[in-house]
Amino acid sequence: MTAVNNAALGDLPERVPVLIAGGGPSGLFLALDLAHRGIRSLVIEPRTTIDPDRPRAKTTNARTMTHLRRLGLADKLRDAAPLPVAYAQDVIFCSALTGHEVTRFRQAFQLVPGRYGPQPECGQQVPQPVMEAVLREAAAESPLITLLTGLSVEDLDINQGGGTPGPGRPRFGSRVAVSDATGRRKAVDCNFVAAADGGSSTVRRRLNIRLAGGSAELSNISVLFRSDTLAAAITLDPAVQYWVLGPEVSGMVGRLDLGSTWWAIIQGVDGSGSPDAGRLVRSLVGADVDVEVIATDPWTARMLLAPGYGHDGVFLIGDAAHLNPPWGGHGFNTCIGDAANLAWKIAAALEGWAGPALPGSYELERRPVAARTIRDAAANGKSLAYHFADPALGRADADGEAARRVAKDALAVKQSEFDSLGLVLGYTYGSSPLVVPDGLPVPAEDPVSYVPSASPGSLLPHAWLDATTSLYDLLGSGFTLLVDRDSLGGAAAGQAYAAVLAAAAIHKIPLSVVDVGPDQDGTPMTTHWQAAAVLVRPDQHVAWRGTDPVGAAAAIGVAAGWPLATPSEDPDRRTRVRAVLP
Ligand SMILES: Cc1cc2nc3c(=O)[nH]c(=O)nc-3n(C[C@H](O)[C@H](O)[C@H](O)COP(=O)(O)OP(=O)(O)OC[C@H]3O[C@@H](n4cnc5c(N)ncnc54)[C@H](O)[C@@H]3O)c2cc1C
Repeated sequence: MTAVNNAALGDLPERVPVLIAGGGPSGLFLALDLAHRGIRSLVIEPRTTIDPDRPRAKTTNARTMTHLRRLGLADKLRDAAPLPVAYAQDVIFCSALTGHEVTRFRQAFQLVPGRYGPQPECGQQVPQPVMEAVLREAAAESPLITLLTGLSVEDLDINQGGGTPGPGRPRFGSRVAVSDATGRRKAVDCNFVAAADGGSSTVRRRLNIRLAGGSAELSNISVLFRSDTLAAAITLDPAVQYWVLGPEVSGMVGRLDLGSTWWAIIQGVDGSGSPDAGRLVRSLVGADVDVEVIATDPWTARMLLAPGYGHDGVFLIGDAAHLNPPWGGHGFNTCIGDAANLAWKIAAALEGWAGPALPGSYELERRPVAARTIRDAAANGKSLAYHFADPALGRADADGEAARRVAKDALAVKQSEFDSLGLVLGYTYGSSPLVVPDGLPVPAEDPVSYVPSASPGSLLPHAWLDATTSLYDLLGSGFTLLVDRDSLGGAAAGQAYAAVLAAAAIHKIPLSVVDVGPDQDGTPMTTHWQAAAVLVRPDQHVAWRGTDPVGAAAAIGVAAGWPLATPSEDPDRRTRVRAVLP
C-alpha cells in the first residue's frame, strides 16, 4: 500500500531518500516528478481529507498543464475538471452580471479550445481540491510514493541521518521528527527534505528563514455558493470570470461547474465584521437570485519571498518559499515550476551524476522567477475592480456609453493579468551556472508578449511535428540533444553523437540524442532554434545551442552542475572537451 489515510507512526519507514513535508500541490507534484525519474519519496500530510469548499486556485496555466502532460496526467486532470475549456475562455468586465459589458479579455489564462501552439497543452480552469484529488490518486497508485496523511513534520536535524557520504552518494542528510495527532514523535532519516508545507512552513521556521515583503491594504472574501437561478439571470455572454465594477460592491463571479455551484470574490473589504455574503453576491449579480452560501473565506493578498530557498539538502518549494497575490492566477503554477525544477536535480544527486553546482542552482533559477511573478501580481493588485467602479457604467443612456468607453480604455492596464504568456512561458534561467550562454540577443522580458527563443536558459520553443506529435513528446526524462535532421547527416553526425554521448558518460549523465525534421508546416528546426542543435534539460529548458552538436559535449557537464575540467583536475577530460568545442 503506498497511501495510508490517517496513518500511525508505525507506518513510517526508518529512512527514505526524499522526505516531502506537505501534500498540497507542490509536495504531491514533486513526489510524482521524482517517481517519474525512479526516485522513492515519503510525503507527510496532516490533512486526511481534501476540503471541497475552499476552491482557492483555479487557473492551471499552459506551462503547468504541459508539466502534467510530461507525467501523463494532463488528460486525467481535464477529465476531472468540472468546467471544460470549451465552455468559456473570456474574462468580461461589466457593471453587473445582469448589466452592461464594459470590456473583455479574450482567451484569458491560455484557455484556447482545440490545439494550442505555444505549448502542447493549453490552460485549464480547475478548482484546487479537484487538482489535489487527481494528484493524490496518482501518488497513491505509484509504487515509489508513500503518502501518509494524519501526520505532521515537527522538527529536523540537518546533517544527521543521511548515511555515509561517498562517491556517487549524496553529501546531505537530515533526521526529521514526524508527529501524530496525539503529539507522539518518530524520527525518519533521509538524504533530502522538501519543505512543501505551505505559507506557515514548519521546516522554513526550523531553518530560521523568514519571508520578507508586505501585504495589500484591503482584504477580500471568497464565497462559494449554490444558485439555481443565477445562470438564467445572466444577460451577458458566458465568461470564465465576470469582473463587476459595482459602485457599492466590486469583485468577481464565476462558475465552478456546469451545475449550480459558483464562486465569488468580494474585493476591497476591511476584513472586520461578518458581512452578509448572500447580499454581496446579489449586488454583483444585480438581481434577486437565490444564493445558498456554502463557505466564506476571508484573505489578504501577500507579497512575500524567502531570502534563501534552503541549504544542506533541505529545499523550500511553493508557498513555503513565496506567497503571491492571486491576481493573474500564478501562485499555484509557480509552485509547480519549483517542483519541476527541483525534481531532476534531486534525482541527479541520488543517482550520482549531479555536479557541485546543481543543488544551489535551484534557488538561483527559481527565486528570480518568484520575485518577478510577485512584482507583476502586486502591480495587478493595484488595479482591482473597485478602482474602476462608477455608477454611470450601469446606465443605458449616452452617459452610460461614455463612461463605459472611458473605463474600457483604463482597463487596458489589466491585460497582463489575463494575457500573461510572457510571464508564464518567457521566464529564463539565462544567468544560471548550468547554462552555456551563446552571446546572441535574448528576448526582452515582458509579462504579455512571449517571443519563443532557444537562447540558453529559455524554455524550448514548442512546435507540432504532425497532427498529434509535439516536439516535447520526443524529449527523454534525462537530457536530450535535439539535432536538426537536415543540417547534419552521415559520418559527421555519427562522430558528433559519439562525442556527446562519451562526454555524458564521464559523469553518467542520462542523455538521448534525437534527430528532428521540420515542423508540420515545413519550417526547419534551425529557424525555431537559430542553431542546428539544442541541448534540452529534463525540465524542457535549453542548456546549450550551437551550430555543431559536438559543442554539446562541452556543455553537458556544465548543465549537470560540473565545472569545465582544468588540466590539473582531469587532463583527459580537458583534452576531450577542447577537441569537441565548435
Ligand atoms: C483565495 C486564493 C485564491 C487563489 N487562486 C489562485 C489561482 O487562481 N491560481 C494559482 O495559481 N494560485 C492561486 N492561489 C494560490 C494557491 O492556492 C497556493 O499557491 C497553493 O495552494 C500552494 O501550494 P503548496 O503546495 O505550496 O502549499 P499549500 O497548498 O499550502 O500546501 C501545503 C501543505 O502542507 C501541509 N502542512 C502544513 N504544515 C505541515 C507540517 N508541519 N508537516 C507536513 N505538512 C504540513 C498542509 O496541510 C498543506 O496540505 C490562491 C490562493 C488563495 C488563498
